[in-house]
Amino acid sequence: MLEKRDFYINGQWVSPAKANDYTVIDPSTEEPCAVISLGDQADTDAAVAAAKAAFSDWAFVDKSEKMALLHRLLEVYNDRAEEMAQAMSMEMGAPISMSRVNQVGAGSWHLEGFIKAFDAMSFERDYTATEKTLLEPIGVCALITPWNWPMNQIVLKAVPAIAVGCTTILKPSEIAPLSGHLFAEFMHDAGFPAGVFNMLNGDGVGVGSQLSAHPDVDMISFTGSSRAGKLISKSAADSLKRVSLELGGKGANLVFADAGAKGVEYGASRCFRNSGQSCNAPTRMLVESSFYDEAVEIASRVANETHVGPASEEGKHIGPVVSEAQFDKIQGLIEIGIGEGRLTAGGLGRPDGLNRGYYVKPTVIADVTNDMTIAREEVFGPVLAIMKFDTIDEAIAIANDTDYGLTNYIQTPDDEKRLYAARRLRSGMVETNGQGFAQGSAFGGYKQSGNGREGGLYGLEEFLEVKSVSGWSS
Ligand code: NAD
Repeated sequence: MLEKRDFYINGQWVSPAKANDYTVIDPSTEEPCAVISLGDQADTDAAVAAAKAAFSDWAFVDKSEKMALLHRLLEVYNDRAEEMAQAMSMEMGAPISMSRVNQVGAGSWHLEGFIKAFDAMSFERDYTATEKTLLEPIGVCALITPWNWPMNQIVLKAVPAIAVGCTTILKPSEIAPLSGHLFAEFMHDAGFPAGVFNMLNGDGVGVGSQLSAHPDVDMISFTGSSRAGKLISKSAADSLKRVSLELGGKGANLVFADAGAKGVEYGASRCFRNSGQSCNAPTRMLVESSFYDEAVEIASRVANETHVGPASEEGKHIGPVVSEAQFDKIQGLIEIGIGEGRLTAGGLGRPDGLNRGYYVKPTVIADVTNDMTIAREEVFGPVLAIMKFDTIDEAIAIANDTDYGLTNYIQTPDDEKRLYAARRLRSGMVETNGQGFAQGSAFGGYKQSGNGREGGLYGLEEFLEVKSVSGWSS
């Protein structure tokens, strides 16, 4: 069993102030795979003090020096990619081939995107002939991340914060902490100065809450549940720190009849990807009435053909969900969904032949209406709800009738319909016809999906203050 009890504070690996072991479970086997420590107030204070002390120098380090360190980080990241793929596969159950390509690939893709955006960015702008606008780092940033896309989320926060001159404390998810631990090793090997990046483990009620309330933390960047996002915002309010949130989603996928089978197949497999554990998953499929029965059949076939297996198995499949708590929550929502709609694939219990591990059957529930729990709650498992619409305006109204607003999807070759709907959908992202987003595109939500933007230029700007200086040149 791996022993990863230390924290990375002020450029060194240190023991926690008090022993408080936490066992990490491999979701493919339900066996313990590692032990970490949960930090307490003394560890949080030490990490924040290190970041605070490092800020005054790091904020003024030349861009060229920061660029060299970011390039070095990318080299280390790529050199140790296999270790990272194995760590994520074990801690959260991503199939190893998917972990190598998508989970690890997301981190390097964003890191490259930030390097390009940072290189092109200017931090001083002429407002008038005599007045300057300076863009400056906000200060000490606490970064709290979840378990579903571990490296994606860590890179999306740590890299832009540090690039623009902030200093940071990362608290990865205690459920999947091994990738965060490894990332701290990468930061150390890349040669970032002591205190610029600190990492400590802990849970939400402990280190998470301590960071949110800490008077010396200037900003919290959080990705995770809306529940935790609200608690963090409340505890951050006393010190009025900036809070940037990336929360859940209940994405609609508008499938018009002219999209054909391809649109349904893409939408269903996108929903099941990463075992449904993506905040931007298209979990509500809205199908034009004339194509509805056929679409339900196609989506159910995709579910039945989606192979489920252990993370260590090579090839294309989906792995377990992350934990027993998530498994139980998903089973509960499937049960509710079966009572509300019509089950056409999957259902309760593990897939045949899998008796241990948190495996969920890819499930389709048809004849759903938007008032049902299965249409409103984020399941965070491989569960697709299908409903029908008659007109484009009805589809848009259903899609927008949700507390969330992260990503919506449209499938149709008709440009006019596509652009009409894209403008009216209330979400931070609209993905059309399976066309992936470009490197550095802004990622973030409307409504209860959050208030921040991550990636590229927008992600760098998130960690900046704006200062106006008059009389810059007299
Ligand atoms: P969570 O939000 O509880 O945990 C995410 C991170 O926040 C972890 O690092 C956790 O330690 C920390 N945290 C939890 N409570 C906190 C608090 N009060 N203060 C500060 N930090 C806190 O997520 P979870 O319990 O692991 O998953 C529950 C649900 O959250 C899932 O079913 C899913 O719906 C949603 N979720 C969404 C995302 C996303 O990307 N939007 C990611 C993970 C989970």
